[in-house]
Amino acid sequence: MAKGFDSLKKQITETADKLATSSSKVRKKMTGVPAHKHCRMCQTTIPMKADPAICKAEACDAKWAKEEKSRKSLKMWMTIFIGFFAFAFIGPILQNLVF
Ligand SMILES: [Zn+2]
Repeated sequence: MAKGFDSLKKQITETADKLATSSSKVRKKMTGVPAHKHCRMCQTTIPMKADPAICKAEACDAKWAKEEKSRKSLKMWMTIFIGFFAFAFIGPILQNLVF
């Protein structure tokens, strides 16, 4: 009886393995052709063409606009800082080269 149970268990495990590999193969094929994106705010599925990558919910739109604003100001400050540092480092070198 125990032997029969063992072989059944083995069979089940084998079938499960086969199913898992075949489904992962299918998934690999599917991921090769992306069909959708996810909302950056609430992770809802949205069409690929959605740009910006958010859904049509007002809350997500407002949140996105807020984040976009802070992203833009962060970008501006980064540019200023990088420009300042670049000037601080390159300025003296240029001065040495020119004069
Ligand atoms: Zn959303």
